Amino acid sequence: MERTTLKRHPERGVLDRAAQLAVIDEALVCHLGVVTAEGPLVLPMAHARIDDTLYLHGAIANGILRAGARANAACATFTLLDGLVFARSHFAHSMNFRCVVAFGTLNEVTAREEKQRALVALVEHAARGRAAQARAATESELQATRVVALSLDTMSMKSRVGPPRDLEEDMRLPYWAGVIPLATTAGAPRREDLGATAPEPRLRYVRPHEPDKARTLNE
Ligand SMILES: Cc1cc2nc3c(=O)[nH]c(=O)nc-3n(C[C@H](O)[C@H](O)[C@H](O)COP(=O)(O)OP(=O)(O)OC[C@H]3O[C@@H](n4cnc5c(N)ncnc54)[C@H](O)[C@@H]3O)c2cc1C
Repeated sequence: MERTTLKRHPERGVLDRAAQLAVIDEALVCHLGVVTAEGPLVLPMAHARIDDTLYLHGAIANGILRAGARANAACATFTLLDGLVFARSHFAHSMNFRCVVAFGTLNEVTAREEKQRALVALVEHAARGRAAQARAATESELQATRVVALSLDTMSMKSRVGPPRDLEEDMRLPYWAGVIPLATTAGAPRREDLGATAPEPRLRYVRPHEPDKARTLNE
């Protein structure tokens, strides 16, 4: 049996690669797990995807990336929380989610062009079009930044949707049961005005996965 085969709740598995990649693109944070000299370590990180490669970045001295950059086995997890599921029993409480786990080897990106492309993708992951609206990394900033790549060819996805699944004999209990939907939403942009003299460009905050929720940055 493959490492990516779900044993618990296999019916919640999603094999469609496009759906798996969409979770990675929607998530603003991933959790990177590697085995360091001191033992296992899992840390939250920003990420970006270009085609079938995931990119992560950090300071050149960053511990988890330094450990990973020695061509270490790694695991990156992307979790989108869609709801809290309240059941009539404690046991049946749950969460609605879409979650992707990617396994692979972390490799340091040393080629200047690929490194630059990855850093642009990291900015674009937060807001489409943003890279052209800010200064690109200088040579010394590039040198101070470690970029690692993870090939996205071994992935699994698990997803739970829908109401609580209570036992038949619990259905008449007098407790509220249902789902509280959860979503990450952008608030109204707050402009930072620290001596900016340039005319303000009209920018739109657009996450790649939700173009209909675009907000104008200078509202
Ligand atoms: C927000 C959230 C909260 C959760 N809370 C709990 C909890 O409190 N208790 C609990 O037991 N479980 C919880 N889960 C589910 C948990 O992630 C595991 O799926 C579950 O614990 C089964 O673990 P296992 O080692 O038996 O999985 P197995 O089915 O044995 O795992 C085999 C393979 O399936 C894949 N896989 C397993 N889980 C996931 C996943 N979540 N996403 C993508 N691929 C996966 C991996 O490739 C893994 O190697 C939660 C999941 C999410 C997203």
